[in-house]
Amino acid sequence: MDFGIPKTLRPTLETIRAFVEEELVPLEPRFLAEPFSALAPILEAKRVAIRSLGLFLPQIPKPHGMGLGLVEFALVGEILGRSPLGHYAFGCQAPDAGNMEVLLEFGTDSQKHEFLEPLLAGRERSCFALTEPDYAGSNPTRLGTRAVREGGSYVLNGHKWFATAADGALFAIVTAVTDPEADAHRRASQLIVPLKSPGVRLVRNIPVMGHTGDGWASHAELRFENVRVPEANLLGREGEGFAIAQARLGPGRIHHAMRWIGIGERALDLMLKRAVSREIAAGEALARRQTVQSWIAESRASLDAARLLVLQAAWQMDLMGSKAARREISQIKFLVARVMHDIVDRAVQIHGAQGLTDDTILAFFYRQERAARIYDGPDEVHKDAVARMLLREAAGRSSS
Ligand SMILES: Cc1cc2nc3c(=O)[nH]c(=O)nc-3n(C[C@H](O)[C@H](O)[C@H](O)COP(=O)(O)OP(=O)(O)OC[C@H]3O[C@@H](n4cnc5c(N)ncnc54)[C@H](O)[C@@H]3O)c2cc1C
Repeated sequence: MDFGIPKTLRPTLETIRAFVEEELVPLEPRFLAEPFSALAPILEAKRVAIRSLGLFLPQIPKPHGMGLGLVEFALVGEILGRSPLGHYAFGCQAPDAGNMEVLLEFGTDSQKHEFLEPLLAGRERSCFALTEPDYAGSNPTRLGTRAVREGGSYVLNGHKWFATAADGALFAIVTAVTDPEADAHRRASQLIVPLKSPGVRLVRNIPVMGHTGDGWASHAELRFENVRVPEANLLGREGEGFAIAQARLGPGRIHHAMRWIGIGERALDLMLKRAVSREIAAGEALARRQTVQSWIAESRASLDAARLLVLQAAWQMDLMGSKAARREISQIKFLVARVMHDIVDRAVQIHGAQGLTDDTILAFFYRQERAARIYDGPDEVHKDAVARMLLREAAGRSSS
């Protein structure tokens, strides 16, 4: 393993870092105070500048994007993660990034033309609707949403929620059961559903920790009532829904984990700044207290360890694909989410009451990123998966 930063990537990383700090971080107070739709035109102007630097769509193959491998994109993702606007501005925000990857891999030519091209151009957004209020999202083989073939179309009925960024999106990639009698992992398929189709209802944007959000920065509850989509909108083959969702989630977890490292780095920077600037007695900074020193040291060490683990998982995926890196991907999902969560929590604590206000970005990270331990599989599911793999290996060893 060589985790040295490739020489050719270094200037790019510096340019991206400068852009995030100089162009995006200053927009954060507006992001916190105003609807996302008010900020979207300003971010569009930033995207024009990013495109002219050749830095738009870092994770997408050339000629549309920068064509970075997963390790390289992980390094970019960490820098972008320092601001909640980073991934959006560079065109690699969830859930569009995952949908672009799925369409690139599984889409037909006409699906690519109709749905992928507008995403690559940054003209439209999309969402991914798998989770349902009535079924445990931790076990996505059980779903209530059904799609039935009828006269050249699928007729879709179902209830989804937490579809991030559905508000204003062009289409959803919807996971629906197409064969209830099939094996658990072959029951569902993925359908591309234009959200303007008759029968699609955005019930509400769901408040998360008291914040409803709008546009890209929202999570919707959706109802599908006798929605007809052409058979040509099936992604891959019938029964491949689960496999496609898994293919999407592998790289997606690396993207999230490196974004969380970026959040942890930003929170640690703020922690350090506060520790040296806040006096708790005349001439005595908070930084003199051992508890604070311990938080700083714990945060630095755990971030460095977490980064190496993510880069290792990305390196394995680049080399051998998602399947070979299943354990590593599950490990980073729960470990990095917790590392990031603990650092943000310490940073909030060290800021006292100010940590709970929107005077810094910390309260936003605290509110929004608690979800990291739940989405894309809760901690417990990933720990379960890691333990089962290890136990299977151990059983294999003891029987031989
Ligand atoms: C902010 C946010 C954004 C999201 N975005 C999307 C999106 O864009 N598209 C989408 O489809 N979904 C999205 N989700 C949904 C998310 O993926 C699910 O919430 C997640 O998979 C968990 O499913 P659930 O909420 O139904 O919890 P459940 O499955 O009901 O689980 C509840 C809890 O039970 C425990 N648990 C579950 N399984 C086990 C186990 N095997 N062992 C021990 N304990 C267990 C865990 O503590 C878990 O948190 C999002 C969620 C959030 C919070």
